[in-house]
Amino acid sequence: MTIPKSHPRYRSLITREKLAEGFKEGLVHTTGLIAHGRGEAFDYLIGEQTLDIADRSARAAAAALLIAKSPVISINGNTVALVGRECVSLSKSIPAKLEVNLFHRSEERVKRIAERLKAFGADRVYGENADARIDGLEHDRALCSREGIYSADVVLVPLEDGDRCQALRNMGKTVIAIDLNPLSRTAQSASITIVDNVIRAIPNIERWVKILRSRNSEDLKKIVDSWNNKQMLKEVLDFISKRLNSI
Ligand code: ATP
Ligand code: MG
Repeated sequence: MTIPKSHPRYRSLITREKLAEGFKEGLVHTTGLIAHGRGEAFDYLIGEQTLDIADRSARAAAAALLIAKSPVISINGNTVALVGRECVSLSKSIPAKLEVNLFHRSEERVKRIAERLKAFGADRVYGENADARIDGLEHDRALCSREGIYSADVVLVPLEDGDRCQALRNMGKTVIAIDLNPLSRTAQSASITIVDNVIRAIPNIERWVKILRSRNSEDLKKIVDSWNNKQMLKEVLDFISKRLNSI
């Protein structure tokens, strides 16, 4: 189906098409389609825009990624289908490693996603030979790469599950999550949450990486240390309730 550009929900529909395509190609898991629907509902509530506070989250995230010793961007099916190319570009700007890390893991899907990232220009993709486990998680969703997520100090997890986000925090890592739902366990347990659509958030982090790159590490550390994630989530909820009350 071709979606006319004049359709008021053009961008949202194109995004759905990308996910449906990714599903047909074996990149996206069935449950990924459902998870996207939950995200869309929250995007509607914030007006499908990058809030000022989400922009400040993206700035703090960029600072954390720039001062990290071993930063990793975790990639799942929805992420590669929606912003695979942008994630490869971000990984080069920082620079950071890329790891395919799936909640519903199948070796076949890991391989397909890694191949897609390479087609987008990634030199090396971790995760195919999982040789470590995220502490405190059972089943295949714990599998990760020792050189990648397992030993990372800062992990960017666009679209993570709440349980795994908490498990990564428990391992002492700085976790940056992108999640449109400010009430999700992921949003609540990450070190820095960007309440924004991944489609807008990934390019925005890269924009901030380019702006902040010339700053010294003391300045960057100050940005990260002064970040108050709880306060930010409160501001997002405040924004949503004010917006709903004014309609
Ligand atoms: P949690 O496990 O964190 O308690 P959940 O079970 O509702 O929350 P999952 O199904 O594990 O969430 O993951 C989907 C999450 O990703 C949802 O919170 C949803 O809002 C968010 N999400 C989905 N699509 C996008 C998107 N395009 N951009 C940003 N966030 C998204
Ligand atoms: Mg979940």
